[in-house]
Amino acid sequence: MNPLKSIALNISIPILISLVFALIVFNETKIPNAIFNLVPYLFYAMSALIIWVSWHFNRNRFIFVIAPLIFIHVGFEYFSAAKATDLFLYASLLYPLHILVFLLLRERGLFSIWGIFKIAFFIVEIAIVLYFIYYPHVELLEMLKMKIFAISFYPLKDLSVAIGIFVVFIMSALVIFNRLLMYNSSFLILTITFYGGLYFIKTPYVHELSLLAISVIIFALLIRESYRLAFYDELTSLPGRRALVEDMAKLGIRYSLAMIDIDHFKKFNDTYGHDTGDEVLKMVASKLGNVTGGGKAYRYGGEEFVVLFPSKDSGESYTHTDILRDIIAKSPFRVRNKESFKEIYINISAGVVQKASKDSNPFAVMKRADNALYKAKKAGRNKVIKA
Ligand code: GH3
Ligand code: MG
Ligand code: MG
Repeated sequence: MNPLKSIALNISIPILISLVFALIVFNETKIPNAIFNLVPYLFYAMSALIIWVSWHFNRNRFIFVIAPLIFIHVGFEYFSAAKATDLFLYASLLYPLHILVFLLLRERGLFSIWGIFKIAFFIVEIAIVLYFIYYPHVELLEMLKMKIFAISFYPLKDLSVAIGIFVVFIMSALVIFNRLLMYNSSFLILTITFYGGLYFIKTPYVHELSLLAISVIIFALLIRESYRLAFYDELTSLPGRRALVEDMAKLGIRYSLAMIDIDHFKKFNDTYGHDTGDEVLKMVASKLGNVTGGGKAYRYGGEEFVVLFPSKDSGESYTHTDILRDIIAKSPFRVRNKESFKEIYINISAGVVQKASKDSNPFAVMKRADNALYKAKKAGRNKVIKA
């Protein structure tokens, strides 16, 4: 997919969630207070749900995003005004840095060495903040409240704003460079939402609503992540076989597809090793992902791929599949060869078919495509054969 399009697609979901909550804030007078009084409870319920699902999916990052917010919310609710003011300062300084760290750390089991390290890190953070709230340190507070900018962002302190700008800058860069778009774009928007909630903290319900918005953003991210786990292939990031079968069932009467297989891949693995083989699979997958003619590529399994062409006949699909074959045949793949690099070329073969009325199910279509692929192999490989 076009990089700009995938950025727009990924970032629009958290933005939309945040905007809905901003809209609620603007229409505050029209909404009964009884509903706003529910917001904190909704936030707690969402947080519990997130923690439970993250735990089961082994996506612990989300637990470390939500847990400090619960702490902050409870603090604002039950601390005296002076303590709450200090908590506000520490939260606005530390939380964005905290989520940046947890965004960048790799996901590992909660009870692995790394998981325990993360838990310890979080406990130390909370302990330090609590210590400084209960034993205020005048010089430290003065330092954290120093003036940096000519304008005031009251109630946010300049240092918090500077840290906020830094974190938003890093996250935006990660989004622009297309790294883990789903995560980075959500974290970017939730950081901005967090600052929005703090900046308007004097307006009733805004902070509570910002926390709820963040929990909804994270929950949406969790749902999309579980969708990705179910339907997308981990190695190549292409949709997998399950997605293919579902999409074919949706397509109905007119479509065609190409069954694609890498040539002599076993020999390649034997010569250069399985890891280099994986790199080749990724390279081939990325070329297939850019298929023209409205096609969509799937990893069928192993080194076999399928490209589905909705509402295309086999002639058109043949053309677009042959373009892919040609692109891949002409793309050098660099393998490290002790000290030097060696350029090698990979070929694919493909069988193209159009769905016929006699095909009673998706598997019948694939079976015929597989036969055409077999013919392409027989005919000397690096070929596309139309059934
Ligand atoms: P042909 O031209 O007839 O297709 O020859 P081939 O060697 O590609 O034939 P075959 O389909 O039997 O070989 C598939 C090989 O693909 C076997 C396996 O080692 C390799 N393979 C399958 N999945 C993966 C994978 O995920 N990573 C790597 N590195 N290799 C894989
Ligand atoms: Mg094969
Ligand atoms: Mg093969």
